[in-house]
Amino acid sequence: MKEFVTEHQSPYLDLTTEVSDILYKGNSEYQDIIVAESREFGRMLVLDGVFQTSVKDEFIYHESIAHIPLFLHPSPKNVLIIGGGDGGAAREAVRHPEVEQVTMVDIDGKVIELSKRYFPSIAKAMLEGNPKLTVRVGDGIGFMKEAADFYDVIIVDCSDPVGPGEGLFTYDFYKSTYKALKKDGLFVQQTESPFMHQPLIQNIWASVSDIFPITRLYTSFIPLYPSGMHCFTMGSKQYDPLQWTPNRNRIFPTRYYNEGIQRSAFVLPNFVKDLLYGE
Ligand code: SAM
Repeated sequence: MKEFVTEHQSPYLDLTTEVSDILYKGNSEYQDIIVAESREFGRMLVLDGVFQTSVKDEFIYHESIAHIPLFLHPSPKNVLIIGGGDGGAAREAVRHPEVEQVTMVDIDGKVIELSKRYFPSIAKAMLEGNPKLTVRVGDGIGFMKEAADFYDVIIVDCSDPVGPGEGLFTYDFYKSTYKALKKDGLFVQQTESPFMHQPLIQNIWASVSDIFPITRLYTSFIPLYPSGMHCFTMGSKQYDPLQWTPNRNRIFPTRYYNEGIQRSAFVLPNFVKDLLYGE
């Protein structure tokens, strides 16, 4: 009998893929977890019924969330990743020679363990014990409150704003993020689909632009996520991605990211501009 996994993307829309095997099905203290071998996307991680990552398209998301902020900052030494338990954002961050320390804080140790076991290509930096990387299990909200004037770049690689991720989309969290950054620091957060999650994106935009002098949104194309059109919100104290010029050579190969995408990702269609800047 055929098996499937489904994400209910909205009350009216499901994304279903046939799977050849369910490798893990269980739950942690925080969420339901499925690891499935899907026929369309390869191996997939599903948390609370939401597709988080797949071996086939994860490079698009992880290169977008890591390299765009890291190449915008001219000297990103200290990097913090909140969430990101699959290890993909950390894998990309440690590739930058300028990056000296990456601290990753995910609330769910079980996601980290299962990612190491079932997603070795994504969890690579964690598995290899990369010396730049420190992995901590804990709540990103509390961690951020304690930090001050330390990070160059913060990457919020969180799940959706339900369950343990909810508090990562609040005004207070963005305030602590601002405080945790150095005076020229910047942060980026995955902020869902501009096509399907408009009120959420407007709320995030209102909070971040109240706190940060420079607020920008960029998109990338991620087949696994609702509508395929995904966005990231950036708050920056000094560097403006709309003024970016290459500030160092990229010495490692990438599959999605390139210098054209560093610029073009911030070019927004009119309906997205209206969402952010409209009356
Ligand atoms: N790429 C994914 C997406 O957009 O769907 C995100 C993947 S990553 C696996 C999301 C991680 O955020 C999960 O491992 C989850 O445990 C973590 N997370 C959720 N709430 C958190 C919190 N309050 N503090 C730290 N990590 C959190």
